[in-house]
Amino acid sequence: MLPPAFMGDPTLYAWVHDWLPVILMVALILLLWGMVRSMPRTRPSEIRPQETPPIAWEDIAGVDEAKAELREVVDYLRSPKRFARVGAQVPSGILLHGPPGTGKTLLAKAVAHESGATFFTQSASSFVEMFAGLGSARIRRLFRAARSHAPAIIFIDELDAVGATRTGGSGGDREHDQTLNQLLVEMDGFNARGAVVVIAASNLLEKLDPALLRPGRFDRQIFVSPPDVAGRERILRVHTRRKPVHEGVDFSLLARQTAGLTGADLANICNEAAINAVRRGEVVIETGDFDHALERVVAGMQSRRRMTERERRVVAYHESGHAICAWLLPSLDPVHRISIVPRGRALGYTLNLPAEDRYLRSREELIDMMTMLLAGRAAEQLVFGSVTNGATDDLMRVAEIAHSMIDEYAMGTEVRSLRLAGHPRSEASQRLYDAEVRELSDEAFRAASQMLERHRPQLEQLAAALLAKETLERAEIEAVMAGQPHARPDRRPGSHLGLAAARASFPADDGRQQPRN
Ligand code: ATP
Repeated sequence: MLPPAFMGDPTLYAWVHDWLPVILMVALILLLWGMVRSMPRTRPSEIRPQETPPIAWEDIAGVDEAKAELREVVDYLRSPKRFARVGAQVPSGILLHGPPGTGKTLLAKAVAHESGATFFTQSASSFVEMFAGLGSARIRRLFRAARSHAPAIIFIDELDAVGATRTGGSGGDREHDQTLNQLLVEMDGFNARGAVVVIAASNLLEKLDPALLRPGRFDRQIFVSPPDVAGRERILRVHTRRKPVHEGVDFSLLARQTAGLTGADLANICNEAAINAVRRGEVVIETGDFDHALERVVAGMQSRRRMTERERRVVAYHESGHAICAWLLPSLDPVHRISIVPRGRALGYTLNLPAEDRYLRSREELIDMMTMLLAGRAAEQLVFGSVTNGATDDLMRVAEIAHSMIDEYAMGTEVRSLRLAGHPRSEASQRLYDAEVRELSDEAFRAASQMLERHRPQLEQLAAALLAKETLERAEIEAVMAGQPHARPDRRPGSHLGLAAARASFPADDGRQQPRN
């Protein structure tokens, strides 16, 4: 039936019937067009080079191997023709990998500075775009810009953000795969068109797509390791070059006490020491400022938290337990200081002084470490007949050591030659694994308890001294352990804290922290 409006005019009705779909379609297209036009335009921003970074070789220390390898790249960028004449190929893709803060970015900047090449830097996370194709377009523009400014360096930080193994998935994964593919395409033989070197930094070499590491791409991989003792001393000197440091400050001692710390940590310590000197109203940085800075960087800032008397007693026994076991176990670093002054999240801490850099640990030594870590809890159990959540961090570290010992080092009672990590496990081998891990930590806990029972008088004395003074230095601990009444010793001039192996216990129970054990 016709609608009433058309009743008298069937031609109009036929016209509308024929054209209405077309009109609606055109209106829809116009609407969509208008919407697209009104959307904010994302103009591809032009990629510009950075100013030459003011970082020279002498600003970097403790990474001599990496520097030696990169010197060749500098020579090439300075005079690519010299290399081309004899047909010598310098790697055009260099991957710097290693823990955070070891100086990877610094090295890339020094290559730019020393060679005078144009410097382009991008963090790989900036390639990871939500919209399809934008990440790969940015990579294309980056390489194009670098080629037009050759000789040039492209520094890609956090390569893992784009270099992780391709998944072949959809959506975001597909965009990631496209971006990575584009990087691979650009790297393939790009150097034939100009002296451009790509330097990338990554913390996780294992996660990178193997295609990135093939010849012609990032085929030169340089491990940038945390510095050894000599390297640490040189880094400390680099970061105090322009600071007024008292001549009594012993950098070689300081370097020995910072085993395991990176260049970034050491730079931070030098800065904190300078700030502390200013706070004291002094114009020269002294040994005490470095002590303070070390303590702050490793153990955290002194907090204003107030503990109840019972909590102070628990913490005092807990820290004394750690100190006694660390003292008695010869494979461990000597205890340098114990304290029940809250710092950061910790209500107390024990500082060990590593005598040297250690790269290998025996099974017995690892069990000793677990024994020392569990000694705080063992002391609580022995003295108070119950335990608190203060051992959370200790327990986490014990679990890490015990799992690695079975999973990675095959140091169990039964698992002695088979590395389990990374292999599928049957139910039976999982049961064996769990039992082995538990046995190791139980063994360490038993050892700690027995040791403290045998040295109960020292435990009581040390805890009492700690409650009275709040912080005990090495000589005071030594005096108690030797059974002498403790006396405050004169601190040797120039002595520093040993902090690299600091362990702090008793995370603050401020309502947010739930007991994890
Ligand atoms: P990430 O992996 O977290 O990016 P990174 O290895 O790139 O870290 P850098 O950014 O190069 O580390 O280093 C941070 C800071 O630490 C530097 O600016 C410098 O002050 C200091 N530093 C690190 N390593 C060294 C070193 N080997 N020599 C001198 N200073 C260093």
